[in-house]
Amino acid sequence: MKECFECKATQDLQEHHVVPKSRGGTKTVTLCYSCHMMSHGRDSKGLDHKRLTKEGLSQAKLRGAKLGSDNPAIRAGLEQRSLDTLSLLAKPLKDAIQTCGYGKWTAIARWMMENEFKTPNGKDRWYPTTVRQLVLKMKEVEKK
Ligand SMILES: [Zn+2]
Repeated sequence: MKECFECKATQDLQEHHVVPKSRGGTKTVTLCYSCHMMSHGRDSKGLDHKRLTKEGLSQAKLRGAKLGSDNPAIRAGLEQRSLDTLSLLAKPLKDAIQTCGYGKWTAIARWMMENEFKTPNGKDRWYPTTVRQLVLKMKEVEKK
């Protein structure tokens, strides 16, 4: 009677290719479903956790989720720091908007660089998206 090579189970048996079939492997070992999945780096439900975590993270990023610390104190600290940066940049951004026009993100980005303001991350290079995000955030904060 056939049994799982790993755990001796006799149910849900499958043939596991030692060398992937796609790479020309011909020899197989009998494994039960759950051992077979584990041999492929998946859990007993057939889920590949590494891949799922990766996919989950990139989907969360697409939704605009803030990744990082779950610790509320650290989060509050980060939030406070970004508010400080925002208040420092609020004046120049307003000047830039007055000069360039609201929504002219590319021109505003250039203005910020010409006037040598650093981005919230301390960089010299301003991108239109950076400007837009900051201005929107600024409006949001001012409403409060
Ligand atoms: Zn098994």
